[in-house]
Amino acid sequence: MKDANCRYCTSAEDIAVKVAELDVSNLWLTKDQAYRGRCILSLKDHKAELFQLEPGELEAFSRDMARAAKALYEAFSPGKINYAAFGDTYPHVHFHLVPKYQDGKSWGSQFELSLSGDKLASPEELAGRVKEIQKHL
Ligand SMILES: [Zn+2]
Repeated sequence: MKDANCRYCTSAEDIAVKVAELDVSNLWLTKDQAYRGRCILSLKDHKAELFQLEPGELEAFSRDMARAAKALYEAFSPGKINYAAFGDTYPHVHFHLVPKYQDGKSWGSQFELSLSGDKLASPEELAGRVKEIQKHL
């Protein structure tokens, strides 16, 4: 099921560029690259809560998340990948996958979620990072 008014049902291209379509999800690289390699993994179907996924779908989504995180790890060598799910304003299952670096921003604390104009990557930087992630998927 899709919701025509939902960013993740239609296109998240206002805030991200698509990296890949995985088994039951889409992987997006956010235009805000304050954290190098920051991505969003969104379920293909419009469902608000993890408990609404079919058992097989939940397992497949978990596999997609692990696959995406491994690709980020191999592409960017972060100290740790952070995972976060909120969705108050976009109630469609999606997780923020945020590579964190030991000498980088917010290490040891919560990452900053909001888009900050000065951290927007150029189209060339985004394209390069998309390619780097795709190589490792
Ligand atoms: Zn949706």
